[in-house]
Amino acid sequence: IDEATRRRRVLLKLSGEAFGGGQLGVNPDVVSQIAREIAEAVDRVEIAIVVGGGNFFRGAELSQRGMDRGRADYMGMLGTVMNSLALQDFLEQAGAATRVQSAISMTQVAEPYIPRRAQRHMEKGRVVIFGAGAGLPYFSTDTVAAQRALEIGATEVLVAKNGVDGVYTADPRVDATATKLDHLTYGDALQQGLKVVDSTAFSLCMDNGMDMRVFGMEPAGNVTRALLGETIGTLVTS
Ligand code: UDP
Repeated sequence: IDEATRRRRVLLKLSGEAFGGGQLGVNPDVVSQIAREIAEAVDRVEIAIVVGGGNFFRGAELSQRGMDRGRADYMGMLGTVMNSLALQDFLEQAGAATRVQSAISMTQVAEPYIPRRAQRHMEKGRVVIFGAGAGLPYFSTDTVAAQRALEIGATEVLVAKNGVDGVYTADPRVDATATKLDHLTYGDALQQGLKVVDSTAFSLCMDNGMDMRVFGMEPAGNVTRALLGETIGTLVTS
């Protein structure tokens, strides 16, 4: 497929917290709703997805409570694989073809992470879900989303947020005077210490000219809108 006829390719980052609907584990109602929104867009845009694991474990939290950080981070990564499988299931129920690729080898459950193969899947209209983060402790799935987007040649990282609809001048849950921004640069985000996405992800995108759109999953339909290129939420650029 030549460049001219190629469809737009995006990387969607979904937080694990959303998958749990605020609780530990996977909430099938929530995941099936997200899956239907993704399936809605699949014939118009090439989609790769990185899913977080905050609904199971966060390595940093477990290590604060006495666990070895590396081991706790691997538990976090395994949580993202469970989320990937849940999303795969509901995507297929919604009629989308999918593949899961894992950064930690577990060949019965998922393909290994092979970027060229992932690109081929997308060209064939399959949604590719990247599980197990980067396979590296001390990384977050935000950073993995940025890295995967770069490696597979996506034009944009779409960061779907739970409970907030974009980037604010301060944390809107804490500061009532916080206002939403339509656009900002990575430099601004880093300088102001805005934590809506982690700083490693921001700097990776900044250094490599990758655009990022941060948007809220509510109201229903927003995930489809973002995938189709609507200008919702906040655009972050270099
Ligand atoms: N994680 C990791 N390396 C990675 C990706 C994830 O160690 O490359 C671990 C880390 O412990 C993290 C957990 O997996 O806390 C879950 O991911 P994350 O916190 O990014 O999920 P989200 O906040 O998006 O739900």
